[in-house]
Amino acid sequence: MKIETLAVHAGRQIDPATGAVAAPIHLTTTFERGADGKYPRGFSYSREENPNRNTLEKCLAALEGAKEALVFASGLAAVTASVQAMEPGDHLLFPDDLYYGLRKVVLEVFQKAQLQTEFIDMTDLDAVQAAVRPNTRLIWCESPSNPMLRITDLAGIAAIARKANAISVCDGTFATPVLQRPLDFGIDLVMHSTTKFLSGHSDVVGGVLLTRHDNYLFERARKFQKYGGAIPSPFDCWLTRRGIDTLPLRVRQQSANALHLARFLSTHPRVEQVNYPGLAVHPRHELAAEQMAGGFGGMLSFHVKGGRAEAMGVAAKLKVFTRATSLGGTHSLIEHRASVEGPKSKTPQNLLRASIGIESVEDLQADLERALA
Ligand SMILES: *Cc1c(COP(=O)(O)O)cnc(C)c1O
Repeated sequence: MKIETLAVHAGRQIDPATGAVAAPIHLTTTFERGADGKYPRGFSYSREENPNRNTLEKCLAALEGAKEALVFASGLAAVTASVQAMEPGDHLLFPDDLYYGLRKVVLEVFQKAQLQTEFIDMTDLDAVQAAVRPNTRLIWCESPSNPMLRITDLAGIAAIARKANAISVCDGTFATPVLQRPLDFGIDLVMHSTTKFLSGHSDVVGGVLLTRHDNYLFERARKFQKYGGAIPSPFDCWLTRRGIDTLPLRVRQQSANALHLARFLSTHPRVEQVNYPGLAVHPRHELAAEQMAGGFGGMLSFHVKGGRAEAMGVAAKLKVFTRATSLGGTHSLIEHRASVEGPKSKTPQNLLRASIGIESVEDLQADLERALA
């Protein structure tokens, strides 16, 4: 089935007890045993399994073409579930422009885990190959990346990881399975912050890890979810599943709006540079076109001529865009990324990152025109 159909139907069923078309929210923590002491309906306790969580996991696995999915209380809990599967002495490769929250997990949460973590340019396959050591067990990539929208060669990373007997993971949050399915390029696992486009309405925090095949990392992550307890609530799962119904519609509109605005911004005299994989001037535009189908996503960033003050000045004048962190909702957001990332940030001080919503692109352009005037 096509993704539009899966987004509506996957994992869903008419409620057998009542015939309800919209799924009930199973707030229960516990489930009845049969007289024989067994669990005839398959559920025992909601940390281990819950109907709303199962529905969401089945749906996400179907969208991504994955064997299985595990959902977590946040995107970073999904990351933590992956990294905790590594062993002391293991060597882990991450992109040098890794999403800053993920960098904090690796460097601060796992500070004492005796992992050998290395940050390299993931867009340069020769550099990745050269960085591989006999004990390399994890190669992490993010495409498009946050906030510079860099594009990584997914098939290339998958091949290097396979040869090294390491597991490859792609953070696909910016692209969503509507535009890009990393497992189809041989990547082992995909991670998303479902907080963003997947749930799509800025009202629920969550994450998912999806696998193409059975492997030890995924099994350890499963234990971290079920026994470690890094679970989303039934209501969180329900909200996310509900958001996914419109995912293909939203993402296509957001991508069309973003492409239009990226083109507009690149002709504006006050804009120094626009980072958007859909622009022919993007250094990896052709690779992005091969890996992403039907659009380049709703995220873009641009450099305002001048510095921090000029960039902040533009953000301050916007009225339709909201100044806030996060992304992927129906409403457009903008933020001065270096401020969020703190004093160690390498993000240029004149960069603004925008998450483009589903509003009229004319209104969004008029808002930017006014702010840049
Ligand atoms: C937001 C985000 C995350 C973290 O997810 P949370 O749900 O905020 O924990 C990870 N990767 C990317 C690319 C993100 O944008």
